[in-house]
Amino acid sequence: MFRLLRLLIPALLGLLFAGCAGTRSSATKASTTRDEWGHRAGARGFSTVIIDAGHGGRDSGARSRTTGQAEKDLALDVAKRVRGELSGSVKCVLTRSSDTFIELDDRVRAANRYNDAILVSIHFNSGRSRIAGPEVYYWRVDSYTMGKRILSALSQVTPYGHSSRGLVRRRLRLTRNPDLACVLVECGYLSNPREAALIARADYRARLARAIAAAILRQRAEGDGRLGPLPRPLFEPPSRSSDPRE
Ligand SMILES: [Zn+2]
Repeated sequence: MFRLLRLLIPALLGLLFAGCAGTRSSATKASTTRDEWGHRAGARGFSTVIIDAGHGGRDSGARSRTTGQAEKDLALDVAKRVRGELSGSVKCVLTRSSDTFIELDDRVRAANRYNDAILVSIHFNSGRSRIAGPEVYYWRVDSYTMGKRILSALSQVTPYGHSSRGLVRRRLRLTRNPDLACVLVECGYLSNPREAALIARADYRARLARAIAAAILRQRAEGDGRLGPLPRPLFEPPSRSSDPRE
């Protein structure tokens, strides 16, 4: 009997903890509550938009060989334009408003201080020179339709957008780790000479920002709308700096 209990107790404890994890992660919560996994309906009615300009300071990000422009400057420019487009409609917070370096984990911590918020991180891409167009990265279920809306809006602005990967589910520090709906937006490829020339133009960046802002406002008004079905839940640990593709 004692031997049997010794065998059974760990199994029972295992079941108990599996049950707890399942309850926690599959619970349907309102879009305004915190959830480590993000397995819930998409963000809707949020009061704050955290706009994160990628890179900064000693981290320039990608750089166009043809225009010489650095991703960190372009990302900050577009982030400020998105804030301008959203002002009067929803409260906006920038993670940086100048050319300063902020660790990714600090950006996540800063975002997690806000309740009832979403996070949109702005970047420009780099890769093989023939690739062009926007890409949006998401991880959480509650971020899927926001990613879809932003990608769709950007695709209407960019004329050569169709060799890029589009909407990509990828576990990154800024897509997995915040406890709120979040997407990372690559507005275009600086490594593509034709796209880099467009990105160098302020009027084009204004159009990118308008598209992102319009998609955010539509998400805020409609939530997931009819953009489902939502992706399946995934259970993965937080992303670390040592992960590949970080
Ligand atoms: Zn970047």
